[in-house]
Amino acid sequence: MGKIVIISGPSGSGKTTVCKLLEKDLQVKKSVSVTTRLPRHGEKNGEAYHFVSATEFKEMIRRGELAEYAEYCGCYYGTPVTALKEALTEDVFYILEIDVQGALQIMEKFPETISIFLLPPDKKTLGHRLIQRNANKEQDMALRLKIADKELEYRDRYSYCIVNDDLEVTVNTIRKILNLN
Ligand code: ADP
Ligand code: 5GP
Repeated sequence: MGKIVIISGPSGSGKTTVCKLLEKDLQVKKSVSVTTRLPRHGEKNGEAYHFVSATEFKEMIRRGELAEYAEYCGCYYGTPVTALKEALTEDVFYILEIDVQGALQIMEKFPETISIFLLPPDKKTLGHRLIQRNANKEQDMALRLKIADKELEYRDRYSYCIVNDDLEVTVNTIRKILNLN
């Protein structure tokens, strides 16, 4: 029986980086979300995300193909339900790297979900990490930092909050939570 693990946190807190390291474990699988946002440099369709148009996304909602979805920063993001249900039949930790709005929907539908909120060491570091990633326009970055304040208000809804200061420590802490040796 698979277990759902949600990883949320402000943009730039390190979710993608942490998930990539966790995924090295054969017991860990990551959900590939659907989004209407444009691919960043190096992001491959079907790996980073399934990139779709707004019309296709709305069709997926209408057909009940998403376990949850949310609007973030002017784009839509959602979790494909078929892959999630399939993962629940396997002996894996199925990671959903999703925002707070989506996380609340999943927690309600699947109360046994393990939920982890990643925090940046401080706001200045968060800003630096977003600049370092260099994937967002300045305007988009300001909006992401503004959304971060709202997202932080929801951290108490999660089973665990981890400050992502040292990457190795963060990954090892999550591996311990999941009982991965
Ligand atoms: P998110 O997926 O939460 O938006 P990313 O994983 O893309 O964040 O990380 C944002 C930037 O911060 C990337 O350039 C990444 O390499 C860097 N980063 C992530 N975790 C750490 C860490 N613990 N220490 C220093 N830099 C980090
Ligand atoms: P980004 O554009 O930086 O890849 O992601 C923006 C935000 O959308 C992040 O908080 C990320 O966790 C969230 N996100 C990614 N996929 C999904 C999803 O399937 N559902 C929801 N609700 N949020 C998602």
